[in-house]
Amino acid sequence: MELKLEPKSKVGKPPQHFLDLNQEERKEAVEELGLPKFRANQIAIHLFEHFNLEIDSWSDFPKDIKEKVKENILPSLITKVRSIQTDNGKTRKDLWKLHDGVLVESVLMEYPDRVTVCISSQAGCGMDCPFCATGQGGLTRNLSAAEITAQVIAAAASAAKGELSGGPKRLSNIVFMGMGEPMANYNAVIQTLHNIIDPNPNGMGISARNVTVSTVGLVPGIEKLSKENIPVTLAVSLHTPDDELRDTLVPINNRYKVNEVLEAADDYARKTGRRYSIEYALIKEINDQAWRAALLGRLLKNRIAHVNLIPLNPTPGSKWTASSKKDEKEFIRILEEQGVPVSLRDTRGKEIDGACGQLAAREIELVNRNE
Ligand code: SAH
Repeated sequence: MELKLEPKSKVGKPPQHFLDLNQEERKEAVEELGLPKFRANQIAIHLFEHFNLEIDSWSDFPKDIKEKVKENILPSLITKVRSIQTDNGKTRKDLWKLHDGVLVESVLMEYPDRVTVCISSQAGCGMDCPFCATGQGGLTRNLSAAEITAQVIAAAASAAKGELSGGPKRLSNIVFMGMGEPMANYNAVIQTLHNIIDPNPNGMGISARNVTVSTVGLVPGIEKLSKENIPVTLAVSLHTPDDELRDTLVPINNRYKVNEVLEAADDYARKTGRRYSIEYALIKEINDQAWRAALLGRLLKNRIAHVNLIPLNPTPGSKWTASSKKDEKEFIRILEEQGVPVSLRDTRGKEIDGACGQLAAREIELVNRNE
């Protein structure tokens, strides 16, 4: 007897969605469906002001129009597979399934003064940084603007409904520090930034300064971003000040060297007036030596930069671990001595592999296996 195997889900481009379109295209798309332009405005209000992606629940849309809109410009794109909470309900990791079965994650974090969501811009990542969980599986595909924005809208809805520990809150901050390299999915990331930042009703109206785009240092992307007139906070994942080690820790360094990356970031700071941040995962006996702190300090002391140290969150099976508290302190002291602003990132969601950049490939494998 022949076994009937389920066809493997085809990894592919998602259907086009309202959130992939700019303002003009949204109106055109609605008109093409034979609907008046004001429907585009109504859709935008549901998405960006009410954070409601479920067209079936919209009371101002008659049933026949709902069907038409849903089919053509509002297909369901992301479905929650599961959520895991930690930190007394203040951190929640959501696993999302895309139309082709591909899985991505986002992490929602509540702080006393803000609510932040960490989102994915790609399924997997092609940058191959050896300490990063996402990098190990390679790149599956780019996400569309709608798939990225849907993570933000879902987070805003959760915060507004009071699903975190402290009652209803407004989503205030967005960081592109989940899976993927945002500058390698440039156009979709720019459309997403418009969806987040443009004032209501055409976007969520969140301040650009509360949005952080983190990059391995794709110089052409940084240069382009500085001309977009969207002054988001730029974070550069440097991880070491010397090219020799960076060539292995962040392999794209073989193409864009430390100096070129910093010059592009300086130019970004000049054009936008925004201080940029340098991400530095402290890895025991790899990049945490006093001489590297001193070199980093010398590189940064006359720049408009701030260092964000991240204790390494070891990936499963990794030979690397986080630096000792003593070395961490000394690293901070040396930077401060040179007048370089430095902070130590808290490791939210560590036990659910939910710390940024550490979105669990393991969990995705598990879900795939069980299906
Ligand atoms: N590709 C982008 C954004 C995703 S990662 C970038 O590289 O900037 C977000 C941050 O988490 C990056 O600074 C990344 O280097 C860091 N990161 C990745 N894996 C990590 C780990 N295991 N421990 C600590 N930080 C990690």
